[in-house]
Amino acid sequence: MARRKKIYEGKAKILYEGPEPGTIVQYFKDDATAFNAEKRDVIDGKGALNNRLSEFFMVGLNSIGVPTHFMKRLNMREQLVRACEIIPLEVIVRNYAAGTMAKRLGIEEGTPMPRPVVEYCYKDDKLGDPLVTEEHIAAFGWASQQDMEDILSLALRVNDFMSGLMYGVGIKLVDFKIEIGRVYDGDYQRLIVADEISPDSCRLWDIESGRKLDKDVFRRDLGDLADAYTEVARRLGVMPANATPMEKPKLIN
Ligand code: C5P
Repeated sequence: MARRKKIYEGKAKILYEGPEPGTIVQYFKDDATAFNAEKRDVIDGKGALNNRLSEFFMVGLNSIGVPTHFMKRLNMREQLVRACEIIPLEVIVRNYAAGTMAKRLGIEEGTPMPRPVVEYCYKDDKLGDPLVTEEHIAAFGWASQQDMEDILSLALRVNDFMSGLMYGVGIKLVDFKIEIGRVYDGDYQRLIVADEISPDSCRLWDIESGRKLDKDVFRRDLGDLADAYTEVARRLGVMPANATPMEKPKLIN
């Protein structure tokens, strides 16, 4: 059997060359890291859950006309995605204060934002993904003015879609991070949602109890991360309806 060519290995995923030009196989690892990999562990089942959840969100986004890199799921841990040039920004959308913004501005976690707040961080692990302004983005040429308009519009559409989806299953979308890729169609370039959308990259709070169902469970030692992600998958119908949060992930095709 021929060995696949590894293109990149990150903290939670590995990218392999895909079967056709312009495609990539995205493999979801079980590794969990936080605080720029200062805290790390291996969580059984996390990769399979994120693969399935990211597929669920991206298929939904594609179906409402928000373009993403997702093509198809290949197996429990892998999905086929369209190759793109990742813009070196983490695009964060916040509906409620939490995490680094709550700390930076001294706002109590859970305070609702009067409007969604969009922040940009420069993707660089060595620098700890620092917060940057649109001035930095323009000055250093990471994205053009037109790109920034498109990025903002994509981020807000993802926010509306994800907020509604989560609200429908009793979950508050506190904040999330997306990455954006550039693809070329002949003379034109388009921006698409890339990377992953999963409880690793969102803050999700149960509306009634406030229970955290996202990576903060790992960051803040609040319990079993796979149980929290399983609960999100179960509510969204990605897991069998009778699955209990304590069950190990059993995924529906
Ligand atoms: O840590 P912070 O509060 O800035 O995170 C905001 C949101 O972005 C959270 O949902 C977090 O999970 C996500 N995030 C991420 N990857 C990073 C930084 C933040 O997915 N490198």
